Amino acid sequence: MLSTIPTVADARKLDAADPLSSFREKFFVPQHKGKDTMYFTGNSLGLQPRSAAEALKTELDDWAQHGVDGHFNARNPWMHYHELFSESLASLAGALPSEVVAMNALTVNLHLLLVSFYKPEGIRTKILCEAKAFPSDRYALISQINFHKLNPDENLIELSPREGEHCLRVEDIEQAIFDAGDTLATVMIGGVNYYTGQLHNIQKITSAAKQVGAMCGFDLAHGMGNVPFELHDWGVDFACWCSYKYMNSGPGAVSGVFVHERHHNSEIPRFEGWWGHDKSSRFKMNPNYVSMGTVESWQLSNAPVLNMAVHKASLEIFQEAGGMTALRERSLRLTGYLEKTVQATASTTGAKLEIITPKNPSERGCQLSIVAHGQGRELYDKLSDAGVVVDWREPAVIRMAPVPLYNSFEDIAQFGHILSASLS
Ligand SMILES: *Cc1c(COP(=O)(O)O)cnc(C)c1O
Repeated sequence: MLSTIPTVADARKLDAADPLSSFREKFFVPQHKGKDTMYFTGNSLGLQPRSAAEALKTELDDWAQHGVDGHFNARNPWMHYHELFSESLASLAGALPSEVVAMNALTVNLHLLLVSFYKPEGIRTKILCEAKAFPSDRYALISQINFHKLNPDENLIELSPREGEHCLRVEDIEQAIFDAGDTLATVMIGGVNYYTGQLHNIQKITSAAKQVGAMCGFDLAHGMGNVPFELHDWGVDFACWCSYKYMNSGPGAVSGVFVHERHHNSEIPRFEGWWGHDKSSRFKMNPNYVSMGTVESWQLSNAPVLNMAVHKASLEIFQEAGGMTALRERSLRLTGYLEKTVQATASTTGAKLEIITPKNPSERGCQLSIVAHGQGRELYDKLSDAGVVVDWREPAVIRMAPVPLYNSFEDIAQFGHILSASLS
């Protein structure tokens, strides 16, 4: 463990030695007093790729030039625009291209997936999730239970960490699944918890859910573009995510979904629209629905191309960087460096800084959540004044995410010195 806060000179050496450091130049870093901020809130809104404006302009120009014919004649024909993401999303999700599609927004997709994967029947009526899930997810789960005229108090199992702990143990999640047994319809968990940064063991949770005959899905809002997944091989039934956090696709940008191929042609219920219809005969405008036979059959509407243009530019950067394997390797080093910096700051200042994110790197993504015991809002104000952008939650929780595509070791070392000065 480092006993002193790393120097900026040391951090610069680490940056210089890592070829992925140059990817920062592909993004606009927000400015503070004429300098780059230390931007650690890519877990809320990822930074804008410099290629975003050009990507948008391509579609605006093609619209100006072709009007409706852009559906076929645009450089990226709009008719098939969503297909541009099949390979790249499949690679990030560890899925087959036929199992992933970009569409709608996240909470909308969560509802659409619950229509298919929460089908209470007989005694099998319960949903299991984490306590203190992201509020939108909880609202979605409770309203789905209400929609089926069931009582959420009896049918939503919310798992809390053990007394004195901040994160859930996988064996406790498995036990809760086995305890619920054949009363359990669906497991729905945030793959990476937005508050603690805990990365759940998706494979083990899925396997336990399958053993009791429940459907199992994950909200990967804080996971996609942050950690690698193998959703297909792990046998996950469904997943959804947003693209404006770690996928840098802009405020409110398009969401994505994963549906395992075993469900594509099953009798599963689904809300349907024309974009889920078999594309070879979609424009015959037949009154009866014929499924695409892939995850695309969950699509309702034609693709929001202007919104997706930025997504396209952003996903190209992931591919250029060598995908999640390369990014995860850098991410582990950056977050480890942040962890040591926070520990060194605590030991040199005597401040009580408690990291509530799991210590084991395989149980977290890039985010660390730090409780600054005994500190108040002035700490956050001092950090902001010095150009550090972090997320602050009362009473004194700092959530920060060093993102491997654009954060540097230097950002972290600078932060350490600013934090130390702000505490004392
Ligand atoms: C960010 C986030 C959301 C936000 O939902 P939107 O529908 O995109 O507004 C929902 N759930 C989780 C877990 C999130 O992290």
